[in-house]
Amino acid sequence: MGFKKPQSNFELTMSIRPVYLDNHATTPVDERVLAAMLPYFREIFGNPASNSHVYGWEAEAAVKQTREVLAAAINASPEEIVFTSGATEANNLAIKGVAEAYFQKGQHIITVATEHKAVLDPCQYLKTLGFEITILPVQKDGLINLTELEQVIRPETILVSVMAANNEIGVLQPIAEIGEICRHRQILFHTDAAQAIGKIPLDVQALKIDLMSLTAHKIYGAKGIGALYVRRRNLRVQLAPQQHGGGHERGMRSGTLYTPQIVGFGKAVEIALAEQVTENQRLLELRQKLWGQISTLPGIHLNGHPTQRLAGNLNISVEGVDGAALSLGLQPVVAVSSGSACTSTNTAPSHVLTALGNSEQLAYASVRFGIGRFNTPEEMDIVAKQAIATIESLRKQATLV
Ligand SMILES: *Cc1c(COP(=O)(O)O)cnc(C)c1O
Repeated sequence: MGFKKPQSNFELTMSIRPVYLDNHATTPVDERVLAAMLPYFREIFGNPASNSHVYGWEAEAAVKQTREVLAAAINASPEEIVFTSGATEANNLAIKGVAEAYFQKGQHIITVATEHKAVLDPCQYLKTLGFEITILPVQKDGLINLTELEQVIRPETILVSVMAANNEIGVLQPIAEIGEICRHRQILFHTDAAQAIGKIPLDVQALKIDLMSLTAHKIYGAKGIGALYVRRRNLRVQLAPQQHGGGHERGMRSGTLYTPQIVGFGKAVEIALAEQVTENQRLLELRQKLWGQISTLPGIHLNGHPTQRLAGNLNISVEGVDGAALSLGLQPVVAVSSGSACTSTNTAPSHVLTALGNSEQLAYASVRFGIGRFNTPEEMDIVAKQAIATIESLRKQATLV
């Protein structure tokens, strides 16, 4: 088995591509993860549910191995891991699954304005079925107010869903405190940990988490695989399945398991945990290198809490430039996401930035830099230089007209 060498013009195209700083959107598969996955496409290809021959057994053994890795990573047990196609599906299963299983107990759900659409939209959908949804605001730094959370809890509240780490501004919500409040009031606590797994410690016992959504492709695993942690001990979460079929995953999620992606997910989590402390330190240094240079300009604002955030996240708002023009100026050099307030197009600012409630800042252009495993200090210098040059040039043009 061998691979054809890529065409040289292909390699050239690759080499002149912009610096990738959109690691909150997705990440490339780590080559160690890919190496672990490859045998499971052709050699060990069996269906993990086939229990009458060796092809099935070896695939099942690989799935079991990942289940154990994931469970150990979050201090759960392997039977509490339900594989899904990603965090979107895990969020849907958690929220709709709990709503359907507990509607006789109550029909009120609490979530937060800065959640991912994969949490907000299922809640919106439940509203059309008659559930009541409370959407908590956040403070200027992106964190929820715990007193406010306690105040909106009602006797009929069945679920609180608050993300662990935000995908736009990187802020880390006070998960332990939220878990404590929910456990005390006997309400289920779900957290979307798509951006948090492998990056911050997540112990479902210590944090009193009942359901937790995970995904592989934000931590150098493949796209299309994720998991939902569903508590079975010390309180057994009831969940109505949202996809029916062969009864896989203890009936909670039917469908043939995607063995190669699952094997890669396990490897990705193993690597992220082994390197967590050193990698966070390295990412923090890269972020400080970038911010240290860009923040020398006047009129640059950091979005989200300054320290209680993911090491690789830098989200800024820039005064006095057009969002679309800034995005265009950065494009050749750096791949980033803009949560822009655009004046020349009618792009609305992101719901996350809007929720921070800084109305003045909403008129500014904004950029999310998501720094990841394969970024280097040299790249931070290149990106900072381009950002500064673009901002200065746009501001100069603005004063000329
Ligand atoms: C990426 C992301 C999701 C969606 O995950 P998929 O695996 O792509 O479906 C959900 N929530 C958050 C916070 C994310 O960052």
